[in-house]
Amino acid sequence: MLATMRIAVIGAGASGLVATWLLQPNYDVTCFEASNDLGGNAQKRIVHVGGESLSVQLGPTFMMPKDYSAFFKILSILEVPSERTPMQLSVLDDQGRAHFISPSLHPFRLGSLSNLTSTKDLYYLRAILNETLKLAKKSDKSTTWHDFIPFLDLPKDFIHSVAYPIVSGFFGLNYETASQISAYCALLYMALCLPTLSNGVQFARSVVGGTHRWIEALGDRLRVGTVQLDCPVTRIKPLPGGKVILEHAQGEEIFDHVVVTTQPWSAAEFIDDEEIVRALQKFPSLPAEIAIHPDPLVPVANKAWSPAMIFAGTESSQLSTFAGSLGGQKLYRSWITEGTKTPKSILAHHTFRHLVPLPEVVDAQRSIQSINAKGSIHFAGAWTHDLDSHEAAIRSGIGAAKALGANNLLLSKIGSPTARYGFGVKEA
Ligand SMILES: Cc1cc2nc3c(=O)[nH]c(=O)nc-3n(C[C@H](O)[C@H](O)[C@H](O)COP(=O)(O)OP(=O)(O)OC[C@H]3O[C@@H](n4cnc5c(N)ncnc54)[C@H](O)[C@@H]3O)c2cc1C
Repeated sequence: MLATMRIAVIGAGASGLVATWLLQPNYDVTCFEASNDLGGNAQKRIVHVGGESLSVQLGPTFMMPKDYSAFFKILSILEVPSERTPMQLSVLDDQGRAHFISPSLHPFRLGSLSNLTSTKDLYYLRAILNETLKLAKKSDKSTTWHDFIPFLDLPKDFIHSVAYPIVSGFFGLNYETASQISAYCALLYMALCLPTLSNGVQFARSVVGGTHRWIEALGDRLRVGTVQLDCPVTRIKPLPGGKVILEHAQGEEIFDHVVVTTQPWSAAEFIDDEEIVRALQKFPSLPAEIAIHPDPLVPVANKAWSPAMIFAGTESSQLSTFAGSLGGQKLYRSWITEGTKTPKSILAHHTFRHLVPLPEVVDAQRSIQSINAKGSIHFAGAWTHDLDSHEAAIRSGIGAAKALGANNLLLSKIGSPTARYGFGVKEA
């Protein structure tokens, strides 16, 4: 009976692909993807400069050595290598003058602690990250950044010139909105690299050749025809008797179960069920734009250069990360939503909506859990599962496959991913 169950997965981002891969050995599964490529946020673009081309990552790049156990387990099953990648950052004003430089790891010139603007500032940042881990251990997502930061009794100048710009820059939010986000979410990415910070240098990990490499490896493990690209789902509706009707670009089909892995605001447009749509509409989001460009937004002295640069303005800051070198030129990847600086030339860009990690996301996640599986419609995706991260996306895909009763060798190889800091764990 199990072998004939028909399951549709909507969305071929990390969560949808993992769910499809793990359901495939047990069921008849089809994944519908609106765009013409796999990966969702983990998408690559090929950019060209002076006759040379480079594949660059527009979305997730930094995977944390701690608490990404599901991600690293899957990489090892797929035999996809990862490597250390520096998390160094500089916070500069919009003229390029440095407020803060963590130990530099210039790709062509290994820096040292002597580049630090202030060891005190490094100590203050450590204090914030340590406290962030404590919030994470308690799964406290309701304390806002605004309420959290005064407790640490740090100098006002550091808070305004360094701490706020980092949080605003990471999320592409202005300072006002950044102050309202959950403190737990604000810097957990950095906090998960903390122990190596004691060496003065901190590292995350990245997939060798770019995040899309593991997405492609996963795509290669799916049966031909399992993923329907360029096939947006336009409507799903639960039918009496438990099946679901699904309308897509090429027609309509009936499924026993549907796993929705698109962003909640996209799902609200195609699910024909008022209660589910109300729950999906609780997730706060803002428009976002990211660009790959060759000119630095602001000229930065060699000494102040880091793989991640945050330019602090009066209302917001702007994050610009090193995206690779091509034709002798450095390329940068910058949030340009809130930024006051616009690149002179743009080689690739991506416009999308981004989840804003306000404390109310926790309530929204609870509402979704309470209606999960209603009318045979199941939810997965990073937004359903703790902080918006690649690990959360992957765990949600694993969770959906298990909830649908999948039972196979892949699932037993993955086992039950552990998490020390509650990261990626489904909250009660
Ligand atoms: C710029 C950026 C940087 C990030 N950096 C990091 C990082 O460094 N580390 C990290 O851990 N996380 C990072 N993240 C978080 C990232 O969101 C997750 O890592 C993860 O990739 C999300 O995967 P997902 O499958 O949940 O959703 P998505 O990747 O959004 O996938 C959803 C899919 O659904 C498809 N879809 C939408 N509507 C329809 C429809 N009607 N029919 C069919 N298909 C549809 C979309 O086209 C998309 O492919 C970053 C996110 C962004 C945006």
